[in-house]
Amino acid sequence: MYRAARRTLLSPLPVVYPGDICMGTVSSDDDKSDTNSGGTRNNSVDVSGYADSHALGRRRMTHDIIDKVENSPVEVKLCHIYELQNGEMKECAVTVDSNKGPVNLRLLVVKHKGKWYCLGADCTYCGAPLVNGFLTFGRLRCSLHGTAFNLKTGKLEDPPGFDSLPSFPVIISKTDVCITSTIQRLLQHAVVTPMCRATDGVSDPVVIVGAGLAGVTCAEALRQEGFNGRIMLISKDDLLPYNRSILSKLGAENAKIEDITFRTREFYETHGIELILSNPVKNVNVEDKIITLSDDQKLTYSDLVLAMGTNNRLSTITNSNDLDGVYQLKDIEDLWKMREGIEKKHVAIVGAGFNALEQASSISPHTRSVTVHCKSETPLKSFGVPFGRALRAFIDDETNVRIRLQSTIRSFDGFDRIEHVVVKDGLCAVAQAAIIAIGIQPCSSLLMKSKIQTDGEGFIKVDSKMTTTVPNVYAIGDIATFPQRNGVCANLPHIQAAQFQARTAALSITGKNNTEEKNTCFVPVMWISLFGIVARFSGDPITQPTEYIARGTLKDKTFVCYHFKKEELISVVDACTESIAIQFIDIFKKKIKITYDDVKR
Ligand SMILES: Cc1cc2nc3c(=O)[nH]c(=O)nc-3n(C[C@H](O)[C@H](O)[C@H](O)COP(=O)(O)OP(=O)(O)OC[C@H]3O[C@@H](n4cnc5c(N)ncnc54)[C@H](O)[C@@H]3O)c2cc1C
Repeated sequence: MYRAARRTLLSPLPVVYPGDICMGTVSSDDDKSDTNSGGTRNNSVDVSGYADSHALGRRRMTHDIIDKVENSPVEVKLCHIYELQNGEMKECAVTVDSNKGPVNLRLLVVKHKGKWYCLGADCTYCGAPLVNGFLTFGRLRCSLHGTAFNLKTGKLEDPPGFDSLPSFPVIISKTDVCITSTIQRLLQHAVVTPMCRATDGVSDPVVIVGAGLAGVTCAEALRQEGFNGRIMLISKDDLLPYNRSILSKLGAENAKIEDITFRTREFYETHGIELILSNPVKNVNVEDKIITLSDDQKLTYSDLVLAMGTNNRLSTITNSNDLDGVYQLKDIEDLWKMREGIEKKHVAIVGAGFNALEQASSISPHTRSVTVHCKSETPLKSFGVPFGRALRAFIDDETNVRIRLQSTIRSFDGFDRIEHVVVKDGLCAVAQAAIIAIGIQPCSSLLMKSKIQTDGEGFIKVDSKMTTTVPNVYAIGDIATFPQRNGVCANLPHIQAAQFQARTAALSITGKNNTEEKNTCFVPVMWISLFGIVARFSGDPITQPTEYIARGTLKDKTFVCYHFKKEELISVVDACTESIAIQFIDIFKKKIKITYDDVKR
């Protein structure tokens, strides 16, 4: 079985093998049946245009339609049984009649190990068509960011994402693959994973400090795991919790806050999540289990979850705090200010990591020029040297953004407003605006006098259950440093890690996290979206590779690079339509050993 899996996943082209891991089907476009099915997609469709905000927008649209149609059951013929072999899937576009006229639907049909499944057609996280995804060990994995859903139930099983997929029992009627459901349910793009009700209002609450992605995910996961006590979610921000990762992506300047919030205010109320906004925690007393808010309110807790995230690392560049036109991006307000300030200007970006490069991509259409100052020899070091070099060449050849390597900025010059950047070697370059994106620092200063241990940089140390050095106190998300599969602690400031940790903490609090297995099977996944490409990383981000095998180009969307340590595959980066890095998630999870020679062959 593993050999079949390895063969499938190493192949650079879409191939279908029977067995436990299968890629999305490349079904024929010819509809040989007399049913109303259709819409089969090719597996190598380019989905790079799907932004992280896609799902939220789409969900709202769907609800608009739902309100307008009646809620009567309908039978839907999806396709013919002969259209799919085992391990194949097909997106079916069907039209059903309602009292208000015809309604168009898209649904995904899957045949796996002789059984038929019908699920929502698009990933609930990013909106990408799941027909381009992969069937792995009873799961359907989205090709864009690796979100995984249970094939049978549609339940979200691997982040990123919040919601599950709608799923429909399939009926085989003679040679037709059919489902029966209400139009209302058929139109649902996403399903909120079932949560229990808050019935215990007496016991001390679980208090979550920080209502970012990790905090919100943890609150929901607690309810999903049957926690019926009080949950208090404390936020420093005055806005409803929202998706910060969109801020650096193309088109974010047009985003309205209501388009990027994770949930509505009613959602928190319905699920008994007491959201307190604009009231940061200023003190944590773990001896008495009391936290103090900025308005001096004191709250006792049963369990405390620290999810305060990070701030931008402070800049030591001379004049960076004194001149106008210098920006750092963390909140939506920063984005609005920055977008006004960079319009038609020569812009310098300090740093060449995820945020710096995504911002270069998204602001470049609005500026006169963008120059990225990269301190080291390659940008985006965390994706490996070959990808960094390929990215630099791609940006140089295909865009109007320039990357200056080994360029350390010493100071910003100007009168009131920035006019120049001065590089370490004394070189001076025109810059009418600057964006500093040089990394992050944890918001953990309020813990300084507590017994909660942090590392040298201030990240909170946790074990594999997300417990800190103090019992009943957990840390999750960007603020935590947690043990990887090899036992080494690391901070992974990324969405997938934050949501995984949030869930793990919820399982620990509800007493369900009794196995080490849950943590050892975590495989980090990271991604970057820029200049029309999405690049992904999966595997071990800590161990330094010693060998690489790189193939393809970014321009053709065929790039893939395999990273090895002592001849064993440790991670994969891809920016190709076959999403090789996503296919490898399950190989890494199952600890299937792949050697340099396997890949070379
Ligand atoms: C511009 C940008 C783009 C990104 N793009 C990507 C991407 O493409 N892919 C990816 O994987 N990751 C991306 N990330 C990282 C990703 O957003 C984070 O990993 C994720 O948000 C982590 O969530 P968190 O809850 O740990 O932290 P945060 O989202 O930072 O939330 C922490 C919250 O705690 C609050 N807080 C802080 N101190 C206190 C206090 N004392 N009391 C109460 N509340 C407090 C903060 O105000 C904040 O709301 C991006 C981040 C940014 C900023």
